[in-house]
Amino acid sequence: MENKKHESNKNIIWHNQNVTKDKRLTLLNQKPCILWFTGLSGSGKSTIANAVEAELFKRGRKTYLLDGDNVRHGLNKDLGFSESDRIENIRRIGEVSKLFVDSGLIVLTAFISPFKSDRQIAKSLVNYHEFIEIFIDTPLEICEQRDPKGLYKKARDGAIKNFTGISSPYEEPLEPQIHIKTNKNTVQECVDKIIYYLIKFGYIQGNENDYAI
Ligand code: ADP
Repeated sequence: MENKKHESNKNIIWHNQNVTKDKRLTLLNQKPCILWFTGLSGSGKSTIANAVEAELFKRGRKTYLLDGDNVRHGLNKDLGFSESDRIENIRRIGEVSKLFVDSGLIVLTAFISPFKSDRQIAKSLVNYHEFIEIFIDTPLEICEQRDPKGLYKKARDGAIKNFTGISSPYEEPLEPQIHIKTNKNTVQECVDKIIYYLIKFGYIQGNENDYAI
């Protein structure tokens, strides 16, 4: 099987396209990137990513949001939650995000992505400044109190195995580009902090002073 895969790969040759990433960018007036939200279930990834995308949309920026559960309904519906499936889940999301970045979009991804090594793989697929890691840092007790999908209760009852934070580890990012504490800031303040970063580092245009918090 491995050999077969290897043999067929030899006959697959990259085709250069006439319309390049640089050419696309001249039309878009933004610097494409991946806003990679990581954090425990219930930490606020989807809520904040949705609100950031809405703000970018309002500003006429071109975006796409890849959300954990939605991707598992389609592209990754063949994957479960074993360690190897989780790794493959993140790998595919990284590859899809890379294509979207190549197309010029600001991509927002909202996945627990608990393992440093997997986030590192996603990061390695794009240029250095195209990957912005956003740590949605909410203490486990608060995520568990919120429990927006009732999953912590199920995990505590033993109905869900390998649940991050309970029966599976979450490896915190050590040097995220943006560190968000949802127990200290409102959703709007969290959004402002991200928009501020995007303006300050030239991903979008605007007045960063409107957002400094
Ligand atoms: P995740 O995508 O990380 O699993 P969700 O966004 O689905 O988390 O759920 C987070 C819950 O926490 C939502 O019900 C949201 O309304 C609530 N919440 C309370 N305060 C905040 C905040 N400052 N930022 C984000 N979410 C918050």
